[in-house]
Amino acid sequence: MRVGIGYDVHRLVRGRPLILGGVTIASEWGLEGHSDADVLLHAIGDALLGALALGDLGEHFPDTDPRYRGISSLKLVETVMRMVHEHAYTLCNLDSVLIAQQPRLAPYLPHIRRKLGDVLGLDQGCISVKAKTAEHLGALGRAEGIAAYAVCLMAPHHR
Ligand code: MG
Repeated sequence: MRVGIGYDVHRLVRGRPLILGGVTIASEWGLEGHSDADVLLHAIGDALLGALALGDLGEHFPDTDPRYRGISSLKLVETVMRMVHEHAYTLCNLDSVLIAQQPRLAPYLPHIRRKLGDVLGLDQGCISVKAKTAEHLGALGRAEGIAAYAVCLMAPHHR
């Protein structure tokens, strides 16, 4: 078995869509970034790559490459999942945490889990997404950004 960890943080700015786990969240503020800035999918992509010691998303999809401008991060994670299968591994489960002072994310979690299930090819029972505030502490607590952590477990394919 192999375990992977991922972390990401993006700044909140006015006038950008807020997309988390491939789901658009109603908000006047969105995350700044070269792609769609989906901080949860970025943490998940890094966890998947990390489990197989394949580097990180920034290495595979550099933000200097115009091909990735505004791209849906679902596409990036789809590509990473193909790499996982090419390396003869199967994803067993995924756990994740979003840290957002605002907006309130709890109502969106079921939809986000369904989206993640589609892109990761996992049952709902193997996907966990939790939402926390930052208790008004520090930059995240001032809602200057949103952060995400993800952990995944993988098993080699049976041959
Ligand atoms: Mg990112």
